[in-house]
Parts: sequence; C-alpha cells; structure tokens
Amino acid sequence: MTDPRTDELADRLAATRERLDAARAAAGRTEEVDLVVVTKFHPVADVIRLARLGVRDLGENRVQEAAAKVADLAAADADLATTVRWNMVGNIQSNKAVAVAGWADRVHSVHSVKVARGLDRGRARLADENDGVGPLPVLLQLSLDGDTSRGGVTREDLPALADHVAGLEHLRLAGLMVVPPLEGEAATHFADAAEVASGLRRAHPGATEFSAGMSGDLEAAIAAGSTCVRVGTAILGPRPVV
Ligand SMILES: *Cc1c(COP(=O)(O)O)cnc(C)c1O
Repeated sequence: MTDPRTDELADRLAATRERLDAARAAAGRTEEVDLVVVTKFHPVADVIRLARLGVRDLGENRVQEAAAKVADLAAADADLATTVRWNMVGNIQSNKAVAVAGWADRVHSVHSVKVARGLDRGRARLADENDGVGPLPVLLQLSLDGDTSRGGVTREDLPALADHVAGLEHLRLAGLMVVPPLEGEAATHFADAAEVASGLRRAHPGATEFSAGMSGDLEAAIAAGSTCVRVGTAILGPRPVV
C-alpha cells in the first residue's frame, strides 16, 4: 500500500525519534521534546506523506512556499490538514508578517517589533473572521553572535522585544529560538542560549519553550534543555536545488 518514499520517510522519522529518546535519556530528561519536521524545498506530496505518518508539527522558512503548501494540503485532504500545525522557522520581512499570520500556527522567528506588530494584526484579522482563534504562539529568535543579518535579535535588545510582544493582544510569548552561529561549538552556544532562555522565563513565566537543535546538533541542544527540535535533512534527505 505504501510507496518507497513513504517507507523512506517512515524509517528516517523512526530513526530521528530514536535519536531524540536517546538524547533525552542521556540528559536525564523525561518530558517530551517537540519534533518539528522542516519540509522547506520539498514538495507537498512529502507533506501529505508525513501527515499520514502522524507528524503533527511541520516547519517552513519561506512565506510564499509555505502559503502554497498549506493551501495545497487543504485542497488535497481537508481532514488531514486539520491534524497538522504549521511552524514558521525562517526569517520574516516585516512587510510579510501579516501574511505569515494567515497560515502559521506557531512562529519561531520573531526578531523585531515590526514583525511582532504585523503578526498581531494578521492574527487579529483571523480572529475576527473565525470563532475560537486564540493568540498566536510566538518565540523570539536570539542572535547569539549579534550578526542579525542571519536573523534574530541581540541579547541586549531581547528584553524590550519580549515586553513588547507580551503586551500584544493576539500574540502569546511562548519562548526563545536559536540557530547557533557557524563558528564555535554548538554545545557552548546552546548552553549560552539556554541561559538567555531562563532569563526570559524569569521575566515572562509563560515563555517556557526553547526551540533549539537541527539534524546535525539535536543531541547537544537536548542536553542544554531544548523543548523543540527542528529537523529537515535527517528525515527528508538533502533539499532539492531550486
Ligand atoms: C532548515 C532549517 C532547519 C532544519 O535544518 P536541517 O539541518 O535540515 O535539519 C531548522 N531550523 C531552521 C531555522 C531552518 O531554516
């Protein structure tokens, strides 16, 4: 009944879940860690396969591609579409933020007040049109090395951004996200980010999520306290060149 690609995705998904379990055991952690499967650059056919395999959290990093996939999934199988949560993990231009709120169920990559305001406005629009739309959970993306061209807010600017987001009616400040700088040890960067995440949690007790770890470094992230890993390549294979 299954095609070879579905078998491949199922095998890699199982292998990734084993890595997560082993990393949690090694870190002495018993609580679940969210797995966001990052489907960017891969076709909606893979999204459908993953959703049928029971994947709940899907991740995208480009606005247009994501919106098209969300629509294609709903058109292909409306019931299946209700079983997934879409996570925006990529850099958001402030003029695209309203659009992101049109499809995202959680946003990991808020880096500025402008982006936060756009998301808030977009979510307000959705709430006007549909009953039962609550605040959008958002994470602030931390730039550890201060090179904000790779996305994120500096640790100096983070507290003010957090206070601003916490005051927006249609957003819920859920936590911190980090992509470690290329230079240096991932483990050191994750430990550093975890400190910032606990500082954020002290100021905003609801900001409990710490989104850290990708295909190559999820063990180090879980050791540092990650509550959510974002995995693409280890499950879907190399991204097609476009
Ligand atoms: C692409 C991407 C990922 C997934 O990376 P892999 O190395 O393929 O697992 C995770 N987080 C963000 C922000 C990404 O853009």
